[in-house]
Amino acid sequence: MKVVRIPAGIYAANCYLVYSEKDNEGIVIDPGGDVDDIIAKIEELGLKIKYIILTHGHGDHIAGVGEIKEYTNAPVLIHKDDEHLLRDGDNNLSSMMAMGRVELSADMIVEDGDEIFFGDLKAKIIHTPGHTPGGISIKIEDSIFTGDTLFAGSIGRTDFPGGSFEKIIDSIKNKIIIYPDDTKIYPGHGPSSTIKAEKATNPFLR
Ligand SMILES: [Zn+2]
Ligand SMILES: [Zn+2]
Repeated sequence: MKVVRIPAGIYAANCYLVYSEKDNEGIVIDPGGDVDDIIAKIEELGLKIKYIILTHGHGDHIAGVGEIKEYTNAPVLIHKDDEHLLRDGDNNLSSMMAMGRVELSADMIVEDGDEIFFGDLKAKIIHTPGHTPGGISIKIEDSIFTGDTLFAGSIGRTDFPGGSFEKIIDSIKNKIIIYPDDTKIYPGHGPSSTIKAEKATNPFLR
């Protein structure tokens, strides 16, 4: 399994390319902008993109989805409780962001426990509400892509519509940090971390 991080768009949301070294089949997580950079990397690595998976429906994570879908022909996946964000530029906050209104529809709806296969890899969908109602984390081998739920040393905002501080803490404590200490954390913004480091230093998890 290989992971490439591309901070994309003016809000520097982390777009991740995750792929199997066996056959270069991969996924794109959260293409939030800077589509030319993302496509250049896909071409450079010779990747066959099978899915575009969205950790949640906010504008800074979805602004590049339309162009990436056009380029890759891959279906767009989002949790059922965030689909209403994807469809509406006010709900996904893009109408108030610098990129302007972004409105899309999903091709596939995912739920907690779903498994998505590409190359010789399996992505397990973990429903982690709190930042948004349908926020997901994506576990692939010993790595978890946490979107705006868990950051290195912090957690996502819960003051947007549908957000809940209680739920985000519950999601992190009962659905993310239950995995082994050496599990890698790849957040929706900023640097990567590990479950061990977050348990030891994240002030929200004390
Ligand atoms: Zn967000
Ligand atoms: Zn974000």
